[in-house]
Amino acid sequence: MFRIGLGHDTHRLGPGDTLVIGGVRIPHDRAAIGHSDADVLLHAITDALLGAAALGDIGQMFPDTAPENRGRDSADMLRRAADAVAAAGWRLVNLDCVIFAQRPKILPHRAAIRRRIAETLGVDEAAVWLKAKTGEGVGPIGEERAIAAECVALVERA
Ligand code: MG
Repeated sequence: MFRIGLGHDTHRLGPGDTLVIGGVRIPHDRAAIGHSDADVLLHAITDALLGAAALGDIGQMFPDTAPENRGRDSADMLRRAADAVAAAGWRLVNLDCVIFAQRPKILPHRAAIRRRIAETLGVDEAAVWLKAKTGEGVGPIGEERAIAAECVALVERA
């Protein structure tokens, strides 16, 4: 038996010098703004996994009103969500993700991001794919006011 989950996340961009994407710190002239470390990709993956297992969503599991979630490491949140999915009897088959960012170029960082996500989830790198799209210079993405990510996750009965 298989199930599929979809995750989406958006963060505003503001002053800063680093973007955290998929747990990888990328030097940049802007940063994502958020309650946690604002890792838009790990948040989308977390929601995709929780959705596949019908276990709620990242906002329920880690409310942004809770002080312990301030500045929280998104890899820790993803690991906890993945543990809950495994405890419910599901095994991750694969993830397919898209980053929406006008800049910086994501492709040079793809291998590192895939490796980091695979390590965090304890799966083979081949089970994690990542693509990147610009905003074609228009809208919040294209005008570099926001960064977004989407992910689909397939799980099967363990
Ligand atoms: Mg988020």
